[in-house]
Amino acid sequence: MDKYKLNIIGYDDAFAIGDNASLPTAKSGVGAHLQAEVVADNLLGYEAKFNGRTFCPCISNDTASFVISDYDHPPVRVRCSRFKRLIEEVFIAGYWSFLKYPRMWRPLMETMFEATKPSVLGEIGW
Ligand SMILES: Cc1cc2nc3c(=O)[nH]c(=O)nc-3n(C[C@H](O)[C@H](O)[C@H](O)COP(=O)(O)OP(=O)(O)OC[C@H]3O[C@@H](n4cnc5c(N)ncnc54)[C@H](O)[C@@H]3O)c2cc1C
Repeated sequence: MDKYKLNIIGYDDAFAIGDNASLPTAKSGVGAHLQAEVVADNLLGYEAKFNGRTFCPCISNDTASFVISDYDHPPVRVRCSRFKRLIEEVFIAGYWSFLKYPRMWRPLMETMFEATKPSVLGEIGW
């Protein structure tokens, strides 16, 4: 399959996303969500590409870290903190609302993904 457009090679109207897809990136809920947006945009006629992005939480009792990578960058260094645990709690509490009201939440999500891009965090990490 095309790892950017997510279509089955040779077919422009058949796509695979989520754990079902054979992509060179981690299988994750975040990945499935971002891939769904790419396929939806492509079906609407926009030029959208999946960049292999991950943003997966690693939670301990009161702190959290995230595995952040994309096709072009291995996981960046992300330190555990209580603040990141709070971010994860907000994400868990708000997720269904994010899905239900995409016009309201998508700009916030896009800002968060933009601010935590591996190329932005670089070697300093987060
Ligand atoms: C314990 C655990 C913790 C995880 N934690 C995280 C996390 O913190 N963050 C993160 O980003 N990802 C996490 N993941 C990964 C994430 O859950 C998956 O990557 C994501 O759910 C994949 O979504 P999907 O829609 O592709 O597949 P699924 O969520 O597996 O959905 C597939 C659906 O298809 C249904 N189905 C299967 N066969 C058929 C059939 N023949 N007919 C009809 N329906 C069928 C299934 O019942 C299921 O509802 C975790 C996974 C596990 C197991």
